[in-house]
Amino acid sequence: MSALRLSNVQVIGNELALAWSDGAESYFALDGLRRACPCAACGGEPDVMGAVIRPQNTYTARSFELAGYEFVGGYGLQPRWGDGHSTGIYSFDYLRRLAAGD
Ligand SMILES: [Zn+2]
Repeated sequence: MSALRLSNVQVIGNELALAWSDGAESYFALDGLRRACPCAACGGEPDVMGAVIRPQNTYTARSFELAGYEFVGGYGLQPRWGDGHSTGIYSFDYLRRLAAGD
């Protein structure tokens, strides 16, 4: 288990900026972050082989607006999107993998 924590979360324009407890910073385009939503409906979580097979999702402009977010159990971030979608929990490890482009 990782002891990684988020020390700061900020929306800057169309990007989400995260500052980590180890001093690293990650920036995500909101549309890319939404498309990587790991919830079951979006299916964005990579499988053990690292492949991401997503169902065809329909997005609107509001899908890529961040309406808010919550921390989940000290291990993840749960964004609430402008279209009401909020079932995706982005674990810190997942966010770090996304930021690394894996
Ligand atoms: Zn989702």
